[in-house]
Amino acid sequence: MDLLPVVLESKTGRELKAYSPVFIHNCLEKCIGSYNGCSPLRNGNLIVKCCSVQQMTALLQCTKMTDGAVSVKIAAVSMRPLGARGVIYNVPLDISTDDLVACLASQGVKSVKRFRFKSSDSSELKDSKSVFLQFDTAVVPGEVKIGYLFFRVKQHVPRPLRCFKCNRYGHVAGHCRGKLRCSMCSGEHNNSECSAAAPKCPNCEGGHSANDKICPIYKRETEILKL
Ligand SMILES: [Zn+2]
Ligand SMILES: [Zn+2]
Ligand SMILES: [Zn+2]
Repeated sequence: MDLLPVVLESKTGRELKAYSPVFIHNCLEKCIGSYNGCSPLRNGNLIVKCCSVQQMTALLQCTKMTDGAVSVKIAAVSMRPLGARGVIYNVPLDISTDDLVACLASQGVKSVKRFRFKSSDSSELKDSKSVFLQFDTAVVPGEVKIGYLFFRVKQHVPRPLRCFKCNRYGHVAGHCRGKLRCSMCSGEHNNSECSAAAPKCPNCEGGHSANDKICPIYKRETEILKL
């Protein structure tokens, strides 16, 4: 598991950002010990930088923060790198990753990764013309320049964290306290054993599966990650 910052959401109806930073700091130290940093997000959540994978795992499992006197119900909603992420398209294949890094470093880009895909004629992964950009800035710029070419930057939104057991958002199966629910029909079985004729989303009860992007709950969870 990579060490990534964890985004925490309040389950009390009051944003975590609205609590005293001293209180939150004391809670975090009590919960995971000394950590690497914490900052509020625009949507009221907090993003916490951990020092170790153990600490990150502990925080992902955490459902309540307390300083000993007052406690706040919380949930880990995602793990994400700090800084905005973007994607650029139609980047000529003859531009190497090294050249991309060299051109983009001065434009706030920390790392670059070309998306790859499996072509129909072979099982080998091929480079695509889409490139993922990790910025060290909070927002993506409108465009970036590579050589004499300009590319519009589209914000990359990570997938929300969804439990493979109960299919609800905000936790992983290892920490699930819910019932097994099929992602296709909401029944109490694995989706590999599903024989339902019509889909029924376990999150919104609509006529689609849990991982369908038209799901309003999926959309809401994705909106949260856009900050
Ligand atoms: Zn679950
Ligand atoms: Zn089913
Ligand atoms: Zn749905």
